[in-house]
Amino acid sequence: MSSLSYPSITEYILPKKNIIVISCIDLRLTDDLLHFLDFDNLTNRYDHFALAGVAVSTTATTPGYKELFKEDALKQYDSFVHWKKSLYDHIGIAIALHAIKDVYIVEHEDCGAYRAFLKDSAFASFDEEVSCHKKFAVALSKDIRSEFELNVHCFMIDIRGNVSLLDTVTEHN
Ligand SMILES: [Zn+2]
Repeated sequence: MSSLSYPSITEYILPKKNIIVISCIDLRLTDDLLHFLDFDNLTNRYDHFALAGVAVSTTATTPGYKELFKEDALKQYDSFVHWKKSLYDHIGIAIALHAIKDVYIVEHEDCGAYRAFLKDSAFASFDEEVSCHKKFAVALSKDIRSEFELNVHCFMIDIRGNVSLLDTVTEHN
């Protein structure tokens, strides 16, 4: 029995088919993420794509977002264009190979990529940090839904492993 806090069953429609999980590379939360996916009955039913910063590093190409990024980060990573392309190539492969229907975007507390890439990432509170992650996760979710016919659920995981729902859209079953 887990003592961790997870979203309620009423908050989103659980995937019945295979999914892709998009998470940060952060090594502190690997076991917590697996635990959450097991809890959602997704054991061995997901492809996993990990990249630093999840939604932040795949939203640099979204209109209106580029100015939120540090100039040196944009320069170092070529405006993150290839990060986004790699993600979308992998979503395409996951659809082709495993007929995925849902995407889990999993943001996390204390993300080093947010600090490294954004001009303004000094959060005064956890709520403020969550709001920032939600902004980027929702932007990525919209973008994914404009590109692919997939349901998208966005989550925030804290460094204890507790998970909350940021956003959910189910249009395709
Ligand atoms: Zn991170």
